[in-house]
Amino acid sequence: MSDEVTLFDKIIRGEIPSHKVYEDDHVYAFLDIAPQSDGHTLVVPKESKAYLHELSDDAAAALGRALPRICRAVLRATGATSYNVLQSNGAASGQTVFHIHFHIIPRIEADGLEFRFRRHEALAPERAAELLTKMHGALSGES
Ligand code: AMP
Repeated sequence: MSDEVTLFDKIIRGEIPSHKVYEDDHVYAFLDIAPQSDGHTLVVPKESKAYLHELSDDAAAALGRALPRICRAVLRATGATSYNVLQSNGAASGQTVFHIHFHIIPRIEADGLEFRFRRHEALAPERAAELLTKMHGALSGES
């Protein structure tokens, strides 16, 4: 899937028009065509990968540097003081464009958007221990 030319590749290349917010060597940001709220912006690595866990360290570092800057610009432009940063990976998560992207979605009180966690069961200590054993093992394999 990551080898396919994505919609966002075409936007980055200028083959499909966009309302460009920001661009550097690694990152491209533009207004969402169907905004969830005024100022809804998409931030995309130029490295064409479907899922966040596939991204290279260099591209991830550039993305991490750019994201707060673009958040500040969105807030300044809209006057919002609250926002969500949403990033979906895989069809089950709701991802529809399989090129990594972060949504910056300005929020105001009673805007009707539903981006809230609904599950509140406490984490079981046994499950936490199992997860940590596996996660720490996986992380120890990262260079
Ligand atoms: P997701 O559902 O998380 O994969 O998000 C894909 C986002 O891309 C949606 O919010 C769409 O509105 C947005 N989108 C799709 N096509 C375009 C386009 N040509 N220009 C800007 N945003 C787009």
